[in-house]
Amino acid sequence: MTDYVNTALGPVPADALGITSMHEHLLLGMPGWEYDASYKYDRRAVADLCIEKVNEAKALGLKSIVDATPMDLCRDIELFKTVQEATGVNIIASTGLYTVTDGNLVFWKLLAAYRGYDEALGRLKYTYTKEVTEGIGDTGVKAGVIKIATGKEIAQIEEISIHAAALTQQETGVRIISHTAAPAMGRPTAECLLAKGADPSRTMIGHMCDTPDAQLIIDCLDLGFWVGLDRFGLTMSISDEEKCRVLAELIEKGYINRLLLGHDCQVFNQVTDLIPAAMLAKMPDWNLSGLFRSIIPHMKEIGITDEQIHTLLVDNPRRFFSGS
Ligand SMILES: [Zn+2]
Repeated sequence: MTDYVNTALGPVPADALGITSMHEHLLLGMPGWEYDASYKYDRRAVADLCIEKVNEAKALGLKSIVDATPMDLCRDIELFKTVQEATGVNIIASTGLYTVTDGNLVFWKLLAAYRGYDEALGRLKYTYTKEVTEGIGDTGVKAGVIKIATGKEIAQIEEISIHAAALTQQETGVRIISHTAAPAMGRPTAECLLAKGADPSRTMIGHMCDTPDAQLIIDCLDLGFWVGLDRFGLTMSISDEEKCRVLAELIEKGYINRLLLGHDCQVFNQVTDLIPAAMLAKMPDWNLSGLFRSIIPHMKEIGITDEQIHTLLVDNPRRFFSGS
């Protein structure tokens, strides 16, 4: 039986995904951006920028992108449709909520406080399930993954989101991915997912490459989870060379079949691109093309083979979404 993945233009067979980046953002907007009166969102201009950047990466081989933007960080499904139509690159949308500190989930937090855990859980599970099975708003586009998020500890509403995601997964089979505040939070996030009934073989613990300590990653892998080494190019805390070294260590130890790659980059961040150009200039590979331009060549220099890179970028995303 063929397994299909929901994209912005409908279901695509998992074995047609090709080279897949597992955690990116075409557009991000941190809560509050919409109150900056000096700015007006020009979707056409942002779409043109996204099309340009996606086409650059497509020319280097990229075929599919998981857009990990949760509902509360300015997720724009119409933008995804426009970009997928123009480029032919699959855009897989997420449902889910961000962290209690940086997301926009005060309503859900208060709902849990006033009406209790179960009421918030039920409504959030309904929402996730609706977005996965019927579609997001009235766009007709179904979410392809649920994104959950944890901070430096797991706040109650983050736990409820994990619980709602796990219950939705049990009913629909949808894959779960995570924003994990720090690699040390990988194992606690994984344990919470397990406690709420998530299937580790259908769940990726993300943002785990910001550490030189492979054991923090192995702690999640040994529970049966996929791990996202999905911040290549984002070198504020650790260099790409160090990330590649840890990747090689994990491959050496036999974990290649559970590893997924990405940049966690953002093509545009509301408003007028939030992150200063000078900061971006220090991270020239933090974009959709970084892996292909610079980082994979470095992986090869340290002995990672073409076949292993194919496993990481093509076979593993297919297996993550299809189970085979
Ligand atoms: Zn992200």
